[in-house]
Amino acid sequence: MSQKEIDWRERFPEDVTCVRCLQVKSVHELDRLLWCEECQTSARRRAARRGWAAGVALAVVLGLYIWFVIQPDLSLIPTAWAATLAVALYLGGRVARELFYGYERVANRRAIEATPPAPGASSEARESERDEQGRDASD
Ligand SMILES: [Zn+2]
Repeated sequence: MSQKEIDWRERFPEDVTCVRCLQVKSVHELDRLLWCEECQTSARRRAARRGWAAGVALAVVLGLYIWFVIQPDLSLIPTAWAATLAVALYLGGRVARELFYGYERVANRRAIEATPPAPGASSEARESERDEQGRDASD
């Protein structure tokens, strides 16, 4: 495994730009898709959030299905139905999280984590520059 790792890293120079945040990092901090640690972490966090949302949605749909279609006699084994929903929430969330993360990895959209320069700051800078030029011209 380490031999393989050396092989792909050797094709790159020492400093490489992360394709997600456009920050220059050491090649050893990036993975094969040229994502840095922070970009992987934030993609995982985002996938976890969406995964939980999908799990909750699945559990709600399943709950409605059980309630209106199956119409169980809740006096018998209510915990079993509750456990069914809990499993749907947990497993649905986990599976959806992996799917969301896998999709982000495969789609590999460029510069999605990069912070563009704030438009307000740059226009202010330009204005103050113009002011200075105006003052220079009037002098
Ligand atoms: Zn990055």
